[in-house]
Amino acid sequence: MEGKLNVQTENIFPVIKKFLYSDHEIFLRELISNAVDATQKLKTLSTRGEFKGELGDLTIDVKLDPKKKTLTVSDRGIGMTADEVEKYINQIAFSGVTDFMEKYKDSHEQLIGHFGLGFYSAFMVSDKVEIFTKSWKDEPAQHWSCEGNPEFTMEEDPKHTDRGTDIVLHIADDCKEFLEESTVLQLLKKYCRFMPVAIRFGEETVWVDSETECDKDGKPKRVEKKQPRIINDPDPAWKKSPSSLTDEDYKKFYHELFPMNFEEPLFQIHLNVDYPFNLTGILYFPKVRKTIDPNRNKIQLYCNQVFVTDQVEGVVPDYLMLLHGVLDSPDIPLNVSRSYLQSDGNVKKISQHISKKVADKLEEMSKKKEGEEKSALEEKWDDIKIFVQYGMLTDEKFCERAMKFYLLKGVDGTYYTLDSYREKIKALQTDKDKTVCYLYASDAEEEHAYIEKAKAKGYDVLLMDSPLESHFINLLEQKLEKSRFVRVDSDTVEKLIPHDDAIPEKLSKEEKEKLQPIIEGEVDKQKFTVQLESLEESDAPMQVTQSEFMRRYREMAQTSGGGMGFYGELPESYNLVVNINHPLISRVLNETDTEKQKELVHQLTDLALLANGLLKGEALSKFLQRSVAMI
Ligand code: ADP
Repeated sequence: MEGKLNVQTENIFPVIKKFLYSDHEIFLRELISNAVDATQKLKTLSTRGEFKGELGDLTIDVKLDPKKKTLTVSDRGIGMTADEVEKYINQIAFSGVTDFMEKYKDSHEQLIGHFGLGFYSAFMVSDKVEIFTKSWKDEPAQHWSCEGNPEFTMEEDPKHTDRGTDIVLHIADDCKEFLEESTVLQLLKKYCRFMPVAIRFGEETVWVDSETECDKDGKPKRVEKKQPRIINDPDPAWKKSPSSLTDEDYKKFYHELFPMNFEEPLFQIHLNVDYPFNLTGILYFPKVRKTIDPNRNKIQLYCNQVFVTDQVEGVVPDYLMLLHGVLDSPDIPLNVSRSYLQSDGNVKKISQHISKKVADKLEEMSKKKEGEEKSALEEKWDDIKIFVQYGMLTDEKFCERAMKFYLLKGVDGTYYTLDSYREKIKALQTDKDKTVCYLYASDAEEEHAYIEKAKAKGYDVLLMDSPLESHFINLLEQKLEKSRFVRVDSDTVEKLIPHDDAIPEKLSKEEKEKLQPIIEGEVDKQKFTVQLESLEESDAPMQVTQSEFMRRYREMAQTSGGGMGFYGELPESYNLVVNINHPLISRVLNETDTEKQKELVHQLTDLALLANGLLKGEALSKFLQRSVAMI
């Protein structure tokens, strides 16, 4: 029989070929998916008792013939009768393509995975496509052939006696790469790695015990053997029941998914929902230490074990893209643009579900088990803190949940929940305006002197050292009732948490007015603001501090790129706090020899800078020389 496909456009094949030009490769996924479907349908018929014959080996074969320039996909599934080829290939499949093209002809937005092109995607890479098929029903085999134009031929093919379907692609000259074993293997690994029916392609070499030869110890010799290569794992971990898997199994699967990631994941969540949407998958928490990995394509999206994409923007909230793993859902619409995807009801529900599961898992980990010193969350906290912070900063709902389990870490390494920490510091660290003051350090080494001073006052100091910290502190100040975060070096210890009891001043107003210019004359006024303050006699004569507000906004501007430019442009500036009650400051004031006075001021400012790690280079050498001379 000869026929003409029911097409309006006289020649649609060149259009198919041009469309999705960069994604020609998906043809292989489409054809193998069809083969998998046909195989699974046969299995279903068999379990239902409708198909009574032998199932036999159901492995799908992919074969290359470079001489004939063909790529063949063969299955032993249900096959098609003549009527079925007419209906599914000549009419339905084709109208499916026409619909698809019609719908997306003006759409330049990227479609997720380009699903739905189906069988006809074979024409993206072929001059001619043949189908040899024999139905499981007792009907003659068919041979269908089409050369990339609307005409096709179909005839009975008595030679073809095996049940199932062979799709033979005569690869076009401009698509020769699909005749190369390495290219095809790579595509099979990408799209078919977890398809549910075994797929065979080429051969692989393995080492086995020899059956005939022995080594000198009498043990069988290890010899190379060629065997057919199965390219997929038809039963991946995410499809199994969580209770049947050990931690080791999960780790093994992680390395199967990401063979190039050598670090172990910290823990994982196994998703398994079938109502109101269908979703399975495993999400692994990687270590997120110092930076947020910009390479966010570590979540692979599958549809019934068929790889769709590893670009999941819009499917999961932004912060979850830091996780690694797989999601598999037939309920994520695949033929749609990303902007449509975000507004899709199912996708929203799925995304919220994942977010909730992540929060559940972290909350569960935060509960200390009996007899354990640390909760599981405390154990892993340093490695996932940035992830949690990023989630809280970008997802309102997650933030609400996380306020219950978020952990603050003291400089001594103790962890506290937000509630327990507030209880701990409330008594000593509430200022005169009833605001609870949280003291923190960004670097325990560099801010050591300040931390010690705060501790001496009985205060507690947190370690807040992530790159998101300044943004995160702002968030906490909004979320926590009447609270303020101050870095230990942002003021003198008295002023960090202002209480009512002011220390009496030892200098008169006139004396202070006289002192101010003496000190200002010796420091770089661009960088330092001189502040005279009434502190304890036992405090340092001079100290360098950096305004919390200015520093934090500078940092935020630097990590948010744009929008806060003004703050990022601010020069670094410090306060030079002069303790007017210190005997050495009185000495400065009373010194009559101006040279000596200058030298004393210099020495005191240098000491303050030194305590803050700000005295460097030439200034440091001069300081050392001057110190020796003074001794
Ligand atoms: P879809 O798979 O989305 O239905 P296709 O264009 O890929 O669209 O295929 C159209 C139809 O052709 C399938 O639904 C199926 O009935 C039939 N078909 C395609 N490939 C095979 C095959 N290997 N074995 C049996 N039937 C097939």
